[in-house]
Amino acid sequence: NNNYTENEDDYIPSERLNIGNIIGEGEFASVYEGTYLKKNGELVKVAIKTLHNEQIETNRDAFLSEAQVMIKLNHHCVVKLIGLSLGPSLLMVQELVPLGSILQYIDVNKDRINPNYEFKIWAAQIACGMQYLEENRFVHRDLAARNILLASQVQAKISDFGLSRALGTDHEYYRAMNGGKWPLKWYAPESYNYGQFSHKSDVWSFGVTIWEMYAFGESPYGEMKGSEAIKLIDEGKRLEQPKECPDHIYKIMQRCWEYVAEKRPTFNELVDVFALDSEYTNIR
Ligand code: ADP
Repeated sequence: NNNYTENEDDYIPSERLNIGNIIGEGEFASVYEGTYLKKNGELVKVAIKTLHNEQIETNRDAFLSEAQVMIKLNHHCVVKLIGLSLGPSLLMVQELVPLGSILQYIDVNKDRINPNYEFKIWAAQIACGMQYLEENRFVHRDLAARNILLASQVQAKISDFGLSRALGTDHEYYRAMNGGKWPLKWYAPESYNYGQFSHKSDVWSFGVTIWEMYAFGESPYGEMKGSEAIKLIDEGKRLEQPKECPDHIYKIMQRCWEYVAEKRPTFNELVDVFALDSEYTNIR
C-alpha cells in the first residue's frame, strides 16, 4: 500500500516547494533546506528529504513507510512531517530543525556547554518525545544522539523514523532483524539476540543516547566492533561513567541498561526524573 495518508492536504504540489542548499546527507537520502508556500500564502522554511537517485526503486517503500509513521505524529519534541510531494521526484517535507544534531552542536560548542543545563533539558525533551511515541504505540528502533536534532539551544527533537514501526495491539514487541547494517551499540540484548524491539529496548537506546551527550559526543565503546560491544554487555559490563556525568545520572543510565527489559525504567519515569531535575522544563 503506497498511500501513506488519506488526507489530501498531506500531499504538496511540487510548484509550492523551492529547494535550496543541501544541509544533510544520510545513507539513503539527501536533505535540503527550502521553502514551502502554503495555501494561505504563508511561506515557511522546511527541510526537504529525497532519496538518492540510485536508491529510488529499492527504498521507495521504506521511504513511504517512514512518512506513514511520521504523518501521524505531532509533538514539539518530535520532528514534524509537513507532507509528501509525489512528483516528479518523491520528496518528504519536514519541519526545518536548523541547528543540526546534538553531536554536531556539542562538537562546536564544547567549551560553552553546561551539562547541568543543556544536557538535562535535552534529556527531558527526548524522554518526553519518547513517552509520546510510546503512547502512540511506536517503537523508534534507532534512537541515538545522531538522530536528535536541535531547533534551538533549548529544544531537542527526535528524528529519523526510518526504522520505526507501530506495534500491533496484541503483542508487546515488534520482531525484525533481517541482515543489513544495524546500530548494534545502541541495541538492547533482546534486540541483538532475538530481533525484539519494544518501548523497553528504546529505553536502553535512550541510555546510550544520554551517555553520548554526557561523554561530549564520544563514540560509545570507542573503536570496538558491534560484536565486541555485545560480548562486553553479555559479560555484565556497561559503558563507563563519563567524566562530566553526575553519579545520579549515571545510575539512571545503568537502570536503562538492565539486562532484563522489565527492570528498566519507563519513559514516564524518565520524563519525571529529568524534568523535575531541571529548572528549565519546556517539555509539555
Ligand atoms: P538517513 O535516514 O538517510 O540517514 P537522515 O534523516 O539522518 O537521513 O538525514 C541526514 C541529515 O540531514 C541529518 O543528520 C541532519 O543533519 C539533516 N536533517 C535531517 N532531517 C532534518 C530536518 N528536519 N531539519 C534539518 N536537518 C535535517
